[in-house]
Amino acid sequence: MKIFYSDTHRKHQPPFEVFDGGKRVPYLENTDRMDRILDALHKTKWAELTPPTDFGLDPIYAVHDQNYIAFLASCWNEWRAADPAVEASPDQHAFLPATFALRRKPIHVPSNLLGKAGYYMMDLSACIVEATYEAALSSANCALSAAESISSPTTSHPSSSFALCRPPGHHAGRDYAAGYCFVNNSSVAANWLSSKGKVAVLDIDYHAGNGTQDIFYERNDVLTISLHGDPDFEYPHFIGFGDETGAGAGHGFHKNFPLPKGTGDKEYLSALDEALNLIRNFAPNYLVVPTGMDTFDGDPLGTFKVTRAGFAEIGKRIAALDLQTVIVMEGGYANEELGTNIVTLLENFK
Ligand SMILES: [Zn+2]
Repeated sequence: MKIFYSDTHRKHQPPFEVFDGGKRVPYLENTDRMDRILDALHKTKWAELTPPTDFGLDPIYAVHDQNYIAFLASCWNEWRAADPAVEASPDQHAFLPATFALRRKPIHVPSNLLGKAGYYMMDLSACIVEATYEAALSSANCALSAAESISSPTTSHPSSSFALCRPPGHHAGRDYAAGYCFVNNSSVAANWLSSKGKVAVLDIDYHAGNGTQDIFYERNDVLTISLHGDPDFEYPHFIGFGDETGAGAGHGFHKNFPLPKGTGDKEYLSALDEALNLIRNFAPNYLVVPTGMDTFDGDPLGTFKVTRAGFAEIGKRIAALDLQTVIVMEGGYANEELGTNIVTLLENFK
C-alpha cells in the first residue's frame, strides 16, 4: 500500500494548547504520534512510504476561502513582528485569539490581527506557530497525492492508499481553523476526486467532522457521513447533531451518527453498518475515510470503548465496499497504541 508522508510536520510543534477552564497543557497532537505510526508501518511488509507531490494552492482554494489561507500564511510573522515578547522567545509562544466571532450577519472581518484570528479560529486548540502553514500545506499534499494514486483504476480490483497527515484536517472549515486542524486534508482530497466521479466521505474519527460537514453541506456529488461522540456532550459542541442532513441541493447528502459515551465495538459496528448501506446506495466512484483512532478504549480525548479487534472489523467492513479508497489520518492520542491500531485497520486494505 502506498503511504504518503512528509517530515515537514515536525516543525509544527506548538508548546501548549488551552483546555476548558483556561488550563494550559502540552499540545496533545504531537510529533510522537507520527513516530509511533511510522514505527508500526516499518514493521509491516506492505507499507510503501512515498513523499507527497506539491499540488500548489489551487486544490486548497477550491475548498478554502483565500483570505483565510492568506491569514494562515501571514499571521505568525505579523504577530511576532508586533510583540517583542514573541520575538524574544518564539518557541514558547503560540498564536491564539481571546475573542471569537459569533458569525452574525452582516459580519465584518476586522483588519486587526487578533480580530481576524477570532474570526478565522474556532477554539484554543488550533495553535499557530512559525511552521504551521508550511506543515498544513504539506499535510494537504499528502492527502492529494494519496487521492491521485487511486484516481485511475488500473487493476481489476480496487486500490487504496493512506495519507499519513499531520496536522489533521477534519475540524477545519472553509474559513476557519479548529481542533488541531488548519487545512481540511480529507475535504481537499475528496473535492479533487469529485471532478472525476462521485465521492463518499466516511469520517470515523471520534469527533464530529464539522469542517467537512460545512464544506460539502450544500453539495449532492459528495456524500458526507460522520460517526462520532454526540456533540451534546463532546467537542465540537455546536455541530454534528442527528438532524443536520444537508441543505439546498445537498439536502439528504449528509448524515451524522452521534453516539453515546461508552460506545463499544458492538454499538459502533451497528452504526457503521448503517453508514455503509448509505454509501452502497449512493454508489460512489471513490471513498475518502478521515480516520481517527481516538475512538479507542483509553484514548485521553475520547469516551468510546472500541478495541483493537474492533478496528480490525471496522477496516474489514469498509474494505468490503470494494471502492477506490483513500484513508486519511486524523486524530488519535493514545500514542502507545496508536501505531498498532492504525496498522490493524489498514491491513484490510493493502
Ligand atoms: Zn478526534
